[in-house]
Amino acid sequence: MSGKKRITVAYGDGIGPEIMKATLNILEAAGAPLEYDVITIGEQVYLNGGSTGIEDSSWDTIRKNKVFLKSPITTPQGGGFKSMNVTVRKSLGLYANVRPVKAYHPYVRSHFPDLNLTIIRENEEDLYAGIEHQQTIEVVQTLKLVSRPGIESIVRYAFEYAKANNRKKVTCMTKDNIMKQADGLFSKIFREIAVEYPDIEANHMIIDIGSAKLANNPEMFDVVVTLNLYGDIISDIVAEVAGSVGMGGSSNVGDKVSMFEAIHGSAPDIAGKNIANPSGLLNGAIMMLVHMGMADIAETIENAWLRTLEDGVHTGDIYKQGMSTQRAGTQEFAEAVIARLGQKPEQFDVVTYNKEAKPINVSRRYAPRNIEKELVGIDVFLDWIGEDRDPQVLGDMLKACEGDFFELKIITNRGVKVYPDCLPETFRSDHWRCRYLRKDESKPATLDEILKLMSNINKAGLEFIKTEQLYTFDGVRGYSLGQGE
Ligand code: NAD
Repeated sequence: MSGKKRITVAYGDGIGPEIMKATLNILEAAGAPLEYDVITIGEQVYLNGGSTGIEDSSWDTIRKNKVFLKSPITTPQGGGFKSMNVTVRKSLGLYANVRPVKAYHPYVRSHFPDLNLTIIRENEEDLYAGIEHQQTIEVVQTLKLVSRPGIESIVRYAFEYAKANNRKKVTCMTKDNIMKQADGLFSKIFREIAVEYPDIEANHMIIDIGSAKLANNPEMFDVVVTLNLYGDIISDIVAEVAGSVGMGGSSNVGDKVSMFEAIHGSAPDIAGKNIANPSGLLNGAIMMLVHMGMADIAETIENAWLRTLEDGVHTGDIYKQGMSTQRAGTQEFAEAVIARLGQKPEQFDVVTYNKEAKPINVSRRYAPRNIEKELVGIDVFLDWIGEDRDPQVLGDMLKACEGDFFELKIITNRGVKVYPDCLPETFRSDHWRCRYLRKDESKPATLDEILKLMSNINKAGLEFIKTEQLYTFDGVRGYSLGQGE
C-alpha cells in the first residue's frame, strides 16, 4: 500500500491540458499523497460518437475513486450533443455547486477590493433538465422542474456552509414574483429552513436586482444561494468583477462523489499558447484537498499562491503594468507557486483551514406523503389557428366540448388571457392553453371524466398537443393563474 489516495483526473479540452498539468505539478511538489486514474472526456469522445462526452467505462472509475478533478471541456455546438458537465452533475447526484469568489486587489485589479462571497448554486434541477419540445410550428417549450427534496438539500447546504465557514449572511435569489410555483417553492423553503439557523442573517432578493447589486455592490454579499440557471449566470458576473474568470475554482458536492473544477470554460481562443491562468483549476484542487482531509497541504499551496500574486508574478489575464513584475506563462506561473511553497503572503491574510472540519453532509430527504392531492381540472394545450386566430371562435368550440363535468374557465396564449374578452392588441401564436375546471367543486374530478372531455375535444376536430392536470394539495392550488384570470 502506497498510503496515497486515488482520484480521477480528466485533462479536458482547450486550455484544459495546460492548466491541469500546471495544477498537478503544484500538488505533487506540495507533497499531496495522490495517485491518478486519467479518463478522457469532452470533444474527443463527442467526435467519436459519444453523445454525452464521457465514455461508459469512465463512470465506474469516477464512482470508485469518489473524487474527480476535472478540466473544462468544449461542448460542440449544435444538435445531438448533451452537456457532459450537466450529465455528470445530475447522474452522480452532485447537488451543490460551491463557487467562492474573492478579490485579490490590488494585485488583481478589481473595483471591489473587499469582495469575498460564495455562490451556492443548485446543480441538478431547473431548466437544466433539458426537457424541450417543439409543440407547434411557432412554439417551443423548455420545462423548468424543481423538487422539494432538491431545494431543501441546496438551501440546507448553504446554511451549513455558512456555519462551517464562519459566514454571517445567506441571501436567496429567485424570481418568485413571476414563477410563483417553481421559484416560489425555492424562496418558501428558504424561509422555512432559515429559522433553524437563528445566528445567520437570511434575506431574499429578486434575481434581477440581485444580479445588478452583485455587479455593482458585491461587497454587501456573503453567501448567495440560488437556482441552477441564475447561479450559472451570476457566478460568471461575480468572477469577472472580482478580476478575472481565470481565478475561481468550484466544487460539485454529492453524497458519495464530488467533482472539482475551474469556474471558467475551455477558452479555445487561447488554447495551446501557454498563457492561460491555471489559478481557477488550482483553487478547485485546493477545495478538493480540504474535502479529502488534506487541509494542511491545501493551506501550504494557497498561501504560496497568494504570495505569488503579491510578488507580481501574473498570467496575461491579470497582468497590470506597475503592479506586475513578471508576465508568466501557465507553466512559469506554476513554477513560481512551487518556488514559494512554505512561504506565506505578507499583504493578504494568511490562509488557515480548520483541520478537524468534516465535509458538509446534508442528508437528503423525500417529502412526506401525508398530503391530500385532489384533481380539480385540466389544462389542454392546442395547436390551432382557425380562420384568423379568433379566440372567441375557439372559445365557442371548446364550450361545446364541456360535457357534464367541466366548465371552460379561460384560454391563454403564451400565458396571457385571450378568452373571455381578448384585447385586440394581444398577439396570438398558434399555441393555446385551455383551462377546464370541475363544475361541482365539492367533488374531485376523475380520470374517466377527463377522458370523456378529451374525447369531445378530439371529436370537435381540435388538435391537442399536451395536457396538464390541475391539482390542489391539502386544498392549496397547485397551479398558477393565467395573466388576467
Ligand atoms: P470561457 O470561460 O472558456 O472563456 C471566456 C473568456 O475568458 C475567453 O476570452 C477566455 O480566453 C477567457 N478565459 C477563460 N479561462 C481563462 C483562463 N484560465 N485564463 C485566462 N483567460 C481565460 O467561456 P466560453 O468561451 O463561453 O466557452 C468556451 C467553451 O467552454 C465552450 O465550449 C463551453 O461550452 C465550454 N465551457 C465548459 C465549462 C466546463 O467544462 N466546466 C464551463 C463553461 C464553458
